[in-house]
Amino acid sequence: MQKKKKPLLVMKFGGTSVGDAERIDSVAQILIEHSREANVVAVVSAMAGVTDALVRSARSASIEDGDQWRPESQSLVKRHQQAGEKLLPAGERAKFMSTLSQQMMVYENLCSGFSLLREITPRAMDTLSSLGEVLSAALLAAVLRSKGAAAEAVDAMDLIVTDERFGNATPLTQETRESTKKNLQPLLEAGTIPVVTGFRAATREGICTTLGRGGSDYSGTILGAALDADEIWIWTDVDGVMTADPRLVPGAHMISEISYLETLELSFFGAKVLHPRAIQPAMKAGIPVLIRNTFNTACAGTKVSARATSQHGVRAITGIAKAALVAVSGKDGLSFPRLAARVFGALSVEDVSTLMVTQSSADNVLCFAIHEADQARVCAKLEKTFELEMRHDSLVAIEATPHVGMVVAVGEKMRGIHGLAGRMFGALGRRSINIIAIAQGSSEISISIAVKSGEVPDALKAIHEEFEL
Ligand code: ADP
Ligand code: ASP
Ligand code: MG
Repeated sequence: MQKKKKPLLVMKFGGTSVGDAERIDSVAQILIEHSREANVVAVVSAMAGVTDALVRSARSASIEDGDQWRPESQSLVKRHQQAGEKLLPAGERAKFMSTLSQQMMVYENLCSGFSLLREITPRAMDTLSSLGEVLSAALLAAVLRSKGAAAEAVDAMDLIVTDERFGNATPLTQETRESTKKNLQPLLEAGTIPVVTGFRAATREGICTTLGRGGSDYSGTILGAALDADEIWIWTDVDGVMTADPRLVPGAHMISEISYLETLELSFFGAKVLHPRAIQPAMKAGIPVLIRNTFNTACAGTKVSARATSQHGVRAITGIAKAALVAVSGKDGLSFPRLAARVFGALSVEDVSTLMVTQSSADNVLCFAIHEADQARVCAKLEKTFELEMRHDSLVAIEATPHVGMVVAVGEKMRGIHGLAGRMFGALGRRSINIIAIAQGSSEISISIAVKSGEVPDALKAIHEEFEL
């Protein structure tokens, strides 16, 4: 009788799931358990807080008298060393300690360079900020081997090929597929669990890039699509996709099934449970994504697939606390289409996505929301774009409002249900929360409302209550 082919699962583990020796031990157990019935590829984040520490070190090194990176290096070494000592027998421990010293050498060299130049170069920053993933992949692979499983740490620089947008690179699908298959298939055929570094990748020339903060989710779905995996599992610290961020809305609860489009919309509008671009490769390939909790393995988690399951209008809500509104108004000869074309041209050069767009054609005003972090860059670009018009006769005015927040209701079945926006207004009104702007996604999957930044938590609670999520 022909042997049944094992399914292929790509499992990504986030920072808290590999946060210390105990957590890494339970991740190894999860992998060993599932590798009995499936071929498994693991993708790991850095230990919780490590990427932040690396970014902090680089910034500190690049400023005058900033030598905070030296003590930071000691605590990084200590954390990894402690986990290695607790989990690994002598041989594996020595091997891991050697990887740790090599990576700390990279750290020292790069920080010394930043300190000397008083500057951080984006490429060097990507090598530095993704060094935590190299360490956690090496550690987890060693722990798996110590438990008798065949496992090998793999640097995603050898798998995921990207463009050269350091800090927020985009994968090149065909090249990634080829190198991923070439490098991972032999391991899988030999029954070895590849433990791949999340977050990092490389250009065609082999220079290290990263996929944006929180990018290990994206690594997981990129690799899942490249390998035609049967499922992609994102293991994190909550039971699954919830009706709202449980840290902000205590009454939030898990959604057992949700569609790709709904998840895409939620992550775009700030639901941290998934990187904003992570759903795309899975959605394109039609691979189901499961979000599961390493702290509660008994829970089946959320299944994300093409199916829109609920008949309820609003499935979940999300928010962005730090946004800014920018209004560009033009006078006289500058028609609205020309104004809009130049504004979006400027945004495209800066590669900034808008969170919301509203217009008043009669007054020739185009208003849009962006992440607050992009405000200075976008305003400077717009001032340059409209330099002449602003200098002569004030034909164009640019006004930015910082400290704006957004609350967004998401649901595929919202279209066709009347009065949802009205209910959101009502819920906010009863709590005296002032609405600054509103927009409905053209696909009618989301309704976004801009409020004051500090009112986002209350607004989320009010809307969650209103729709009895
Ligand atoms: P990881 O380190 O595993 O990648 P993250 O911290 O990036 O984990 O993402 C998980 C967190 O996302 C949760 O702890 C939760 O606070 C937050 N979150 C925000 N919105 C949601 C949501 N709708 N559902 C679940 N979690 C959410
Ligand atoms: N370690 C990276 C970060 O903190 C990537 C990730 O955790 O997904 O952004
Ligand atoms: Mg994350």
